[in-house]
Amino acid sequence: AYLDRIDEHNPGVGAFLRYDAERALTAARHIDERRKAGEPLGPLAGVPVAVKDILAEQGERTTCASRMLEEFRAPYDSTVIARLKAADAVLLGRLNMDEFAMGGSTENSALGKTSNPWDLKCSPGGSSGGSAAAVAADFAPLTIGTDTGGSIRQPAAFCGITGMKPTYGRVSRFGLVAFASSLDQVGPMARSAEDLALLYGAIAGHDPQDSTSLNQPIGDLSTISQPLKGLRIGYAKEHFAAGLDGEVDEAVRTALKVYEALGATLVEVSLPHSKYAVATYYVIAPCEASSNLARYDGVHYGYRSDVAKITAELSAQRAALEEAGERRAAEDLDTPLVRMYRQSRSEAFGPEVKRRIMLGTYALSAGYYDAYYLKALKVRRLIRQDFDKVFEQVDVLAGPTTATPAFELGSLVDDPLAMYLVDLYTVSANLAGVPAMSLPCGFSKSGLPIGLQLQAKPLAEETLLRAAYMYQ
Ligand code: GLN
Repeated sequence: AYLDRIDEHNPGVGAFLRYDAERALTAARHIDERRKAGEPLGPLAGVPVAVKDILAEQGERTTCASRMLEEFRAPYDSTVIARLKAADAVLLGRLNMDEFAMGGSTENSALGKTSNPWDLKCSPGGSSGGSAAAVAADFAPLTIGTDTGGSIRQPAAFCGITGMKPTYGRVSRFGLVAFASSLDQVGPMARSAEDLALLYGAIAGHDPQDSTSLNQPIGDLSTISQPLKGLRIGYAKEHFAAGLDGEVDEAVRTALKVYEALGATLVEVSLPHSKYAVATYYVIAPCEASSNLARYDGVHYGYRSDVAKITAELSAQRAALEEAGERRAAEDLDTPLVRMYRQSRSEAFGPEVKRRIMLGTYALSAGYYDAYYLKALKVRRLIRQDFDKVFEQVDVLAGPTTATPAFELGSLVDDPLAMYLVDLYTVSANLAGVPAMSLPCGFSKSGLPIGLQLQAKPLAEETLLRAAYMYQ
């Protein structure tokens, strides 16, 4: 049934970059045979799952929606893919995203366009736009996304689904193509908190292959349907300030009242450094990205510019310069290897990826490192301390996931700064490493979904899931 829906509607929605019906059906039949033979099956037995195209899967293409990795085939399984296979999930295919997960609309994909299933003129959000659109369009009940600064929660809000960024270190990053390693986290996306818990339980947990993986129990997810007694919910005044759309404000306040009616206590709290979060994030994330993306050199991975052409061009240039008596200029020409490196990156990275590499390289360079990178790390610590204080007072922090519902495709993509500001409410959780989720809490008058963001202290995913279940 899911494959039929994909065949019919993926051409319009564009959530999948690739899917393989034959392979999925073969896997499903195999699981069914094992079921009939009475073999024990995993917790996701036969459940269709689709994955953002950023997690390595052995023998399969893992493109990050980039020309750089368009033909790259992963030589091994990422831990998340390995765990999905071990849980007997049926993998349907690969979902569109912003190139290397940089963006908030999925428009930075070099390989396809994705629309919001609620209104095809609108963006599904990003960077996990394909993962959110796939759940909203009923192409799969469960999908995997990644969240470096909001890329699970913001598209979940825009597409009216539920998504969670776990605590940093909860889900293994082994085999996840790195964007900003200290912020990246893999997470589940689904219709409801209950489905989310099922997928989260299958992928989370310690992995010795990721040195930042936490060796802590993931909690009892079978109890998420039990209401939380004495739940204290905080709302930060900074989350209801200028710039917040009136309909989003109203929907979130209504959700707070629902919690109050369910017996929760509401507490006003403050995150005084949250006004620096976007600026801090857009120093740290590009710095880490510029370092992580240095590996795409035309030699080790992916795209390589045409070396024969480069060599021929260089010889022609050298000959012309020598003939004109410009001996020094001829000697200063690139070597073929340097030219190949430069050309490969120039040709295969899109404009946003190049922008991040330049920003990050600049902020890390001698003379600017202290002023930008080191300063950003200090502010990051202050943001974390804000959260520590808040979670001494409350169990869950509730607020808007985004300031507005989904925007129209094309409306922000040429204005990087405006696109960065969309991340206002989401980046702090990544800077602080705390778990955070988005769940639907209403609709705008034009019929677009609105997201409620819940955040909790490190390792408190169970609390988040239970709080979300209570509301749903
Ligand atoms: N929109 C943010 C960015 O462009 C977040 C992306 C993400 O979480 N991967 O960096």
